[in-house]
This record gives sequence, C-alpha cells and structure tokens, in this order.
Amino acid sequence: MDPAKRASVGTRVEEQVKDWLRYGEELGLGPYYRDRAPSHQPSEPASIETAESAPAKMAPAAVVRRAPVAALSAASAPKSAPSPNPAAAAAPAIVAPASLPSLFESIDRIVDDTLARIREDIGDCTRCKLHKGRTNIVFGVGNPKAELLFVGEGPGHDEDIKGEPFVGRAGKLLTQMIEAMNLRREDVYIANVVKCRPPENRLPEKDEITTCSPFLMRQIDVIKPKVVCCLGSCAAQTLLQTTQGISRFRGEWFDFRGAKLIATYHPAYLLRNPPAKSEVWKDLQKVMAVLGLQPRKR
Ligand code: SF4
Repeated sequence: MDPAKRASVGTRVEEQVKDWLRYGEELGLGPYYRDRAPSHQPSEPASIETAESAPAKMAPAAVVRRAPVAALSAASAPKSAPSPNPAAAAAPAIVAPASLPSLFESIDRIVDDTLARIREDIGDCTRCKLHKGRTNIVFGVGNPKAELLFVGEGPGHDEDIKGEPFVGRAGKLLTQMIEAMNLRREDVYIANVVKCRPPENRLPEKDEITTCSPFLMRQIDVIKPKVVCCLGSCAAQTLLQTTQGISRFRGEWFDFRGAKLIATYHPAYLLRNPPAKSEVWKDLQKVMAVLGLQPRKR
C-alpha cells in the first residue's frame, strides 16, 4: 500500500479507537480510561483526591470496603463489563485497606441537623463555579425518612429548570425502576453530588465535588437511610473515595456512614445501553432483599 495511504488509514483507525475510548469513558467504564494517557480524559474526575484518599492511591486499588456485608457480597452477581485490557482484568477487583477511613466517615456529624437547616446553609450558594450557569439549586427530593436514598452526579437541563433531581428522560426511567421495586418515588429520597448543573452536562469537576458534597453527606446523616444507591461512577467514586471505574465494584456492598452502599449504572447510561438494565435490576434486587421488598406484581 502507498505509504501516504497507509498513514491515512492508520490515522482513521486511531481516531476510531479514541472515539470508542471516549465513549467508554462517558459510560464510566474505568478500565477504558484507566489505561489511557491523561490528555484523553479532560473532563473525567478519574482521580478524586483528598488529603485522606491520597494514601489510598498508593495501593493498587483505592476502594475502601469497610466491614463488607459478607452474605450480601457473596451473593453479588459476576461483573458484566469485562475489561478490554487483560492486565487490568487480572488486577484484584477490590483491595481493602481497612485502616484507612473514607473522607466522609471522618466529617463531623452535626448534632440536631435537619434538611431545612442544610438548605438554609446552602442559601443562594456561590461557593463553586457551578453557580454561574444554574437556574435553580437542586437540593433533593423525597421522603425525609426514606430507607432508600439514590445519589446521582448532578442536575441536567430539565432538573436545573425544575429544581428537582431526575425529572428528565433518565429521571422517568429511575421512577420506573423505583416502581419496579414496589416503591413510589415519594417513598425514597433522591439527591446529587453537586446541586447546580454543570455546563454542557459535563461531569462535575473535582473542586466542585469537594465543595458541594459535604451538603450531601449532611443529607445522608439526617435522612439515615438503610441503603444508599449510587447511580453512576461520579456518585460512587465520590462516596467511596475511589478512582476505580464503577464496573469494578458495581453490585458490591459497602458500609457507609451507618448505611449500606451499593453502586449501579446511571439511568442515562441505560437509555444508551438498554441491555445493561438486567444488570441494574440484579443490583436493585439486592437492595430489595435488604429492605425486605417484593417485586411489584404485574
Ligand atoms: Fe454551591 Fe453546590 Fe451549587 Fe457549587 S454546586 S454553587 S457548592 S450549591
């Protein structure tokens, strides 16, 4: 083949590979971006570093599994998203440096805190740059005594307009998921890691997460859910203080601030990849088992 033509084909193939990697990154499939050069991941908060998580990064895997629920963990389904990288696939799924507390375990709990007080403290917040583009602060919605709390990453366009989390297409799917668990949307609580919409629906950045997520921690402390279900990699990585992709620990149980925490895929991902719904349903069934729920009868 003509050398110039071969170079052109090579460039096209490289671009296609980059597109796939970018797509995997958007889906939160860690192993894709974990093995990529930093220049390919400008908006992915792959490394959520804090003073306390830094030592954990020294370990080969940074997820801190605190007092795992053995029986439930044993029942975990096998992972559905195999790593395209054999080396990454061979790495241990979870390493548990149990002596390292999660950042949020160490945040002081506020005595007699309430959701109203948290909202009051947020006020007309300008603590991070996300305030510049927001229409409404999306605080959270649902039963203040919910046993089940869903956590997403941040508001999108519809949520920003309405001031309520998960009201767009992904929100409708989340509502269907909740109803399939034989619950109503108003039975659970729904919140996000950041309370203002990131521009262009990008992922929240590290400084924004660091600034805003303490409000979420206070909400969790006040609501005291039995189960926290993280929707997508941003929420899971933030609460578990890990840089691992969600596919590495999706469906596993962790202890978190007195609750049991599980991570599953974001409903927006399911809209793009409907076959993954079966994996999410397995995760939700684990949640139902903990909460003593039976699936809704059709
Ligand atoms: Fe404040 Fe959170 Fe909004 Fe940032 S995202 S401006 S910290 S409420």
